[in-house]
Amino acid sequence: MKTFKNKVALITGGGSGIGQATALAFAKEGARVVVADISAPDARATVEMIKGAGGEAIFVKTDVSKAKDVRALVHKTVEAYGRLDCAHNNAGVNGALAPISDYPVKEWDKVIAVNLTGVWLCMKYEISRMIQQGSGSIVNTSSIGGVTGSANISAYIASKFGVVGLTKTAALECAAKGVRINAVCPGWVYTSMTVREAETAKMDPEEYRKMAAGMVPMKRMGEPEDIAEAVLWLCSEKASYVNGHMMVVDGAMTAGLSVSE
Ligand code: NAD
Repeated sequence: MKTFKNKVALITGGGSGIGQATALAFAKEGARVVVADISAPDARATVEMIKGAGGEAIFVKTDVSKAKDVRALVHKTVEAYGRLDCAHNNAGVNGALAPISDYPVKEWDKVIAVNLTGVWLCMKYEISRMIQQGSGSIVNTSSIGGVTGSANISAYIASKFGVVGLTKTAALECAAKGVRINAVCPGWVYTSMTVREAETAKMDPEEYRKMAAGMVPMKRMGEPEDIAEAVLWLCSEKASYVNGHMMVVDGAMTAGLSVSE
């Protein structure tokens, strides 16, 4: 029996990287999937991949920083599939690389709007539907940047710490109402976001990948599927008593100081 048979899963940022891997994994486990993304070609590609493998999925064009888009996303999900069981609020952007004194205000506003306000808006409309149903599970994508600081990416770090705070608050608000809310904190995962980071650092993506892998105690970057596995587990019945948790999936990157080999 597939874990998510008869369930409906919504994934924001489902057109690429971690969100795409999660969408494919949910579909493989029997869920009907709603792929939400600001990029139509990428999200449509995810839907085609799911359908090509015999699954069911729709695309809803969504800018998660806009309340009317997110409200419509949840409405269209219920209209298409009748319910909403699982949500992975994952859409995110990395923003500029600069110290706080030089950080452009416009970039700050954009990163906070997508990464933080976006997660809050998604939860606002998803929770309302899930409480009505009496059940549901949400996983928000934070980052290891949500548990530790990092120079030159202040907006990103603030947004991801914020996601952890929102997750814990929402978990408390919903704990007695049948809705669980957790966060996943990925380490360094190879996606198009990493390729953009390489471009910003003026490095070849493969060189960047090698450099990043060298900094991870497990000596490899994460793959999107590593994160998808954690998201599916958190959404599953196996995690039925896990609530308000931030699950770090980072190859031991934040475990502590690495001893020299
Ligand atoms: P990605 O760039 O491959 O995917 C992000 C997706 O979000 C894209 O499909 C993009 O179109 C979509 N998106 C961007 N802005 C949007 C908006 N306003 N509305 C709707 N969709 C929007 O990146 P990824 O690495 O898969 O990142 C996914 C999440 O994981 C992000 O929240 C990111 O911060 C987080 N994360 C990534 C890493 C990593 O190393 N890649 C590490 C920690 C956390």
